[in-house]
Amino acid sequence: MPELPEVETIVRLLNQGGLVGSTVSGATLLWPRSLATPGEAELQARLPGQTLRRISRRGKFILLHFDPDTLLIHLRMSGDLRIIPTSPTPPVVHLPRGDGQNILPTSPIPPVLHLPSGDDQNILPTSPPAPLSLEWRGGEESSSARVDESTLSSHPSSFLPHDRFLLHFANQQTLAFNDPRKFGRLWLVSDPQVVLGELGPEPFDEALSPEAFYIRLHANHRQLKALLLDQTFLAGLGNIYTDEALHLARLHPLALSHRLTPQQSAALLEAIRSILKEGIRRNGASIDWVYRGGDFQNHFRVYQRTGQPCPVCGAPIQRITLGQRGTHFCPTCQKRD
Ligand SMILES: [Zn+2]
Repeated sequence: MPELPEVETIVRLLNQGGLVGSTVSGATLLWPRSLATPGEAELQARLPGQTLRRISRRGKFILLHFDPDTLLIHLRMSGDLRIIPTSPTPPVVHLPRGDGQNILPTSPIPPVLHLPSGDDQNILPTSPPAPLSLEWRGGEESSSARVDESTLSSHPSSFLPHDRFLLHFANQQTLAFNDPRKFGRLWLVSDPQVVLGELGPEPFDEALSPEAFYIRLHANHRQLKALLLDQTFLAGLGNIYTDEALHLARLHPLALSHRLTPQQSAALLEAIRSILKEGIRRNGASIDWVYRGGDFQNHFRVYQRTGQPCPVCGAPIQRITLGQRGTHFCPTCQKRD
């Protein structure tokens, strides 16, 4: 599941994709349940004609700021976005009302998006990924393809199985929302807070001081792993970055939030920010997710490293199950008390 660094990577890609400033010419909803709100008829009546002003991220949500509406996208388990160059004549698309499989013209080759060089949080990737190497790991029909530009140019318009929503722009580009497992959701709203109102603070929010974080931890009486996964406590963390941050902070995943000292609390906040920055710098982790040149998976401290040596002390990494999710930690570095 994409977490903050992966979603941030996608947003940066999208911002470099040429969509901003263009106007929506039409929308194709291939899987109606992907659209949380409003109904399809209202979306079709509202969205065409609106101009995309900017693309941003809040937690794990992607926000496409139109004028006046905002389209919010949550990728959940398997969602992905890509930009497809389209021909001046819109493709003929027959709307399936089934699950949308095997109806559109398909290609295993997604188009290439280049990573941005700009940044607004001073956490630039230090090196660009390999943008021309794409590997599709999109689920049960996964196939992989290593492609180069010449191959791509012969596939100027590539729709994929599991495309759920297509947003066509007047500049001859289409934004495709692909989601094999169908858990992803889209919302078209006039006020994003209707969807985002319950989210906790952004990890990089300067207002989230060590003191404020300590107070938030102590206002909850919960185990750290579960609390950090709770998007109303802090927005953006998932299983990977929570395990990594807890190891860096030398805190046990089952430790109780209100037992942390101010020093432990400050160390945890610093570890969360450090791990997320590294994840963004490495364009995210490419596991169970579309390859974007991200390589954070090659630098995991504990995540999915059960039995392998802790990078700090050498003890074998342990795995426990919390709420049906695997949790990885070092029993030596991360004492319970
Ligand atoms: Zn250790």
